[in-house]
Amino acid sequence: MRINAKMLTAAIALAVMAMATASAQITQEQLQTASDEQLLRQWTRELSHDEFGGRKPMTPYEDKTVNYLARQLQAMGLEPAFGDSWFQPFEMISVTAKPVGSGLPVSGKKKTELRYPDDVITWTTRATEIIDLTKVEYVFCGFGINAPEFGWNDYEGIDVKGKIVVVMVNDPGFYDSSLFKGRNMTYYGRWTYKFEEAQRQGAAGCLVLHNTEAASYGWHVCVNGHLSDNLGIYNPDTHNADELAVRGWLHEEGFKKLFFAARMDADRALADAKKPGFKSFALNVSGDVKMNVTYDIKKTRNVGAILRGSGHDGEAVVFCAHWDHLGIGKADEHGDTIYNGAADNASGMAGALLVAKKFMQMPKPRRDLVFIFPSSEESGLFGSAYYCNHPAVAMEKTVACLNFESIGPAELTRDVVILGGGESDLDHYYVAAAAAQGRYVYFDNDNSDGWFYRSDHYNFVKKGVPAVVLENGHHPVDVSKPNKYPMPVWYHKPSDEYHDDWDLSGTLSNVNLIFSVGLSLSNNSR
Ligand SMILES: [Zn+2]
Repeated sequence: MRINAKMLTAAIALAVMAMATASAQITQEQLQTASDEQLLRQWTRELSHDEFGGRKPMTPYEDKTVNYLARQLQAMGLEPAFGDSWFQPFEMISVTAKPVGSGLPVSGKKKTELRYPDDVITWTTRATEIIDLTKVEYVFCGFGINAPEFGWNDYEGIDVKGKIVVVMVNDPGFYDSSLFKGRNMTYYGRWTYKFEEAQRQGAAGCLVLHNTEAASYGWHVCVNGHLSDNLGIYNPDTHNADELAVRGWLHEEGFKKLFFAARMDADRALADAKKPGFKSFALNVSGDVKMNVTYDIKKTRNVGAILRGSGHDGEAVVFCAHWDHLGIGKADEHGDTIYNGAADNASGMAGALLVAKKFMQMPKPRRDLVFIFPSSEESGLFGSAYYCNHPAVAMEKTVACLNFESIGPAELTRDVVILGGGESDLDHYYVAAAAAQGRYVYFDNDNSDGWFYRSDHYNFVKKGVPAVVLENGHHPVDVSKPNKYPMPVWYHKPSDEYHDDWDLSGTLSNVNLIFSVGLSLSNNSR
């Protein structure tokens, strides 16, 4: 079919209209006149539009997303958080490490080989062409935990410098409910902690012993997650040479082989390591580790704005909502390939923007308010980790982090759920703010799934900044109107899309709750 001039004009008009709806920013006028719910809806809809391509960092969709946020913050009258910039750039490294040979040869009293990938999987986050360790010694360090508050130090009295430490996943509470926090895994149980601590101790490498129950996922997850594209923050000064040369997961069969080479009793070592007073020990086994490494370094950006308070004491309350999601990927059963991330986390960004707008329309609070939109949350909380090491306001002066994570859609509830309570007096602020809304707080202290460690607020907690996780309540006001979009339906799927029939009444009440917690925190003399 030939296209005539009239059809072409119509086509252009349609295209222009489509662009206008998708890329529209909320104007200053709309900011004044639109209702809170309208704003929440519009920001969520726009930021999760197909045009944003699932907001994957380090793609052209990053530019679109971060510019959108910066323009909205500017329209509200906030100041950039990073000098004269809305953006905090940092570099990410993506590393693929291919082992040389069929495995890790080890020898002690006996010789054996830890085979890839049935016995062991290794990688690195260093920017280098090759990892080549010769005759490196292996040390068994129990859980690899140094936790003064629990009176537990697996590194006491043992020198692991330049050695490979082998540590168990999870923490002692998993096996003995009187230790640590019982089945509620502490951060010491996470595999990421194991690497952080091994690095602090000066180890060359760290292999985490897998166990399906203690890890809560199978061996294939460990292997598939690390065969290629291992991510980390890139430090251009050190090229990450200050990080562990070798990171890895060790299968239980590999662990047995290692103890076979040492002619030591693996089962007894595991049993002893679960008891207080355990002493880590050298296996008197050593071996070479050789990997060919390829890597890619790319820049990404956090977005941040600041509202300077009237107090001038340099203290701040941080509001946080990650901007990134999973991008374009594997099609779902409907052929949809765009992971829009409407709930996760366009809804969170919309909540943070709404709180910023509310603060701009009232007298200045005493403390500064920082609004931070981290990149690369989904791939490992990297943006917030970078921010916490390079904050707009020092961590010691940051009184709390209020994080917005996947807050919509949600029906109105009588309760609100708080994860990670009981650690600071922040709890009282939530209780008071909920009571003022005629709601109550349910403190959910079951963190056996480790959920509390899986969003940006946790990087603040690691720096000693109080933060809890807010979730929608379980007790609907109107029981005849259950949430049509519960989380298991959309979590990390292309179907995480905005719909006009989204119930945002609960979301709005949670945003208002966070706003009033923020308002109290920004004006009190705590
Ligand atoms: Zn998220």
